[in-house]
Amino acid sequence: MALIVQKYGGTSVGSIELIRRVADKVIARQHQGNQMVVVLSAMAGETDRLLRLAHEMSPEPNLREVDVLISTGEQQSVALFGLACQAKGVEAVSILGFQARIETDEFHGRSCITGIDPVRIQNELDQNRIVVVAGFQGINGSGDVTTLGRGGSDTTAVALASALKAEVCEIFTDVDGVYTTDPHLHPKARKMRHVSYEEMLELSSAGAKVMETRSIEFAMRYGVRIHVRHSQKDEIGTIISEEEEAMEDRIVSGVAYNKNEARITVLKVPDMPGMAAKILGAVSDAGIVVDMIIQNTSAGQEGRNTDFSFTVPQTDFQQAMALITQVAEEIGAERVLGDDNIAKISIVGVGMRTHAGVATKMFQTLANEGINIRMISTSEIKISCVITQKYTELAVRALHDAFELDK
Ligand code: ASP
Ligand code: MG
Repeated sequence: MALIVQKYGGTSVGSIELIRRVADKVIARQHQGNQMVVVLSAMAGETDRLLRLAHEMSPEPNLREVDVLISTGEQQSVALFGLACQAKGVEAVSILGFQARIETDEFHGRSCITGIDPVRIQNELDQNRIVVVAGFQGINGSGDVTTLGRGGSDTTAVALASALKAEVCEIFTDVDGVYTTDPHLHPKARKMRHVSYEEMLELSSAGAKVMETRSIEFAMRYGVRIHVRHSQKDEIGTIISEEEEAMEDRIVSGVAYNKNEARITVLKVPDMPGMAAKILGAVSDAGIVVDMIIQNTSAGQEGRNTDFSFTVPQTDFQQAMALITQVAEEIGAERVLGDDNIAKISIVGVGMRTHAGVATKMFQTLANEGINIRMISTSEIKISCVITQKYTELAVRALHDAFELDK
């Protein structure tokens, strides 16, 4: 008998009929002799609707109250799922975050899970019930409801799978699995059978949106095996697991892109200690996350100036520009340039660790298409280039073909 944790996203439980269908699937798996724990998101659009209501009530709503409000989306879907199972004569029980003892830190709106005590869930399973747990929510030390950030139900599922020592954590969604690149951009995109945690992390930070990034970090830390698959199909999707198993014997596994960043360049920054900290400190103090950072060596006769570039999420671009313009003046830099018409194209693969020439091949491929590279950054298993946004599709296709990812 296996214990299986399944998670269904909002589009998979977006209507009464869909919830019934999910219930059928879960019941069938239980009949095969498995213990079933199901984590649900709110019905599609519900979290957004609730957030809109909060913002209608107040331009800057109190985060504690927002959590009380938006956690009800999941409360609805799990209760409906419980009713669906019971209508089919199957015992099921809905469990909210606090009942599942999903403990979090104090931060409202984006809290981290600090511990889970799965006794209650285990008891329910022992009585042959299907246990349906509200995703996205927990309880903090003060006894208040918290939420885990957008897409947080993935993290709930992975954390429960870890706490319950489940055989697998199945993430049901509206895509077939993890692809070598976005199938909407390139018809030759291929579904991967396996991908390692690290590759998946890099792919999602580079723009591939399959699972919430934090849930993958969690899975990697605790060795939770994940199976991403389509909620309306029975096909095998993609397994996310340890590297040894995930190796597909290729150097590059996927090409990702992100159009949601903007670049800021500070020209002629005095080249002396403390400047980078000053510039980046101004944005990080405002809670803005910086992605790529580049600083040139100083050149020229004066030899005392350097150009400094970095990228921020597009949503934070205006605010970051305002902050940096002020800092630039303070430190005596010449000028600040901003550009939100960029895209970041990344290739990812664990094989890069042991192979030379991957970067050259990437740069050459872009050059062959006449695409200018404006920033470059690398990690052990990822190379990213910033290019002009309108070349995104061309770049993705060319790289996918050059590294033969369709094979
Ligand atoms: N309902 C939440 C959201 O829309 C959590 C989730 O779907 O995972 O972000
Ligand atoms: Mg979701």
